Amino acid sequence: MPYTYDDQNIFAKILRGEIPNTTVLETDHSLAFRDIEPQAPEHVLVIPKGAYVTYDHFANTASDAEILDFTRAVGKVCDMLGVAPSDGEGYRMISNAGENGVQDVPHLHVHVLGGRNMGRMVAKAGS
Ligand code: AMP
Repeated sequence: MPYTYDDQNIFAKILRGEIPNTTVLETDHSLAFRDIEPQAPEHVLVIPKGAYVTYDHFANTASDAEILDFTRAVGKVCDMLGVAPSDGEGYRMISNAGENGVQDVPHLHVHVLGGRNMGRMVAKAGS
């Protein structure tokens, strides 16, 4: 079933400049900004400017230019935050999708988290 994009979601409003954000990086097709409720010393969200709901939606339907721009933006953010293991202590990148992924905002975003040990990837079943 095709995705339906809700243009009233909070990241769409950020992209339209209707609510403020703390921008880390802006490129032709992507925006990176600080999470409003950081869960680590470094917590940045990277989003495409296009109307994509989830990572699979983006990966399956975005243009090559958008995918290239977004991928490079994530890499640049890791460099800017100093979390890349090449010169930092590492990071976790997460993209929640849909109900089981517990996605709150229905506009594709990847979380880049660092500055502390992030622990195990997911909680064990039932916990
Ligand atoms: P998710 O559960 O993956 O959809 O995560 C949504 C994230 O968006 C959460 O970590 C929120 O703290 C973050 N968030 C919600 N509203 C804003 C906002 N206005 N500016 C920055 N981050 C936000």
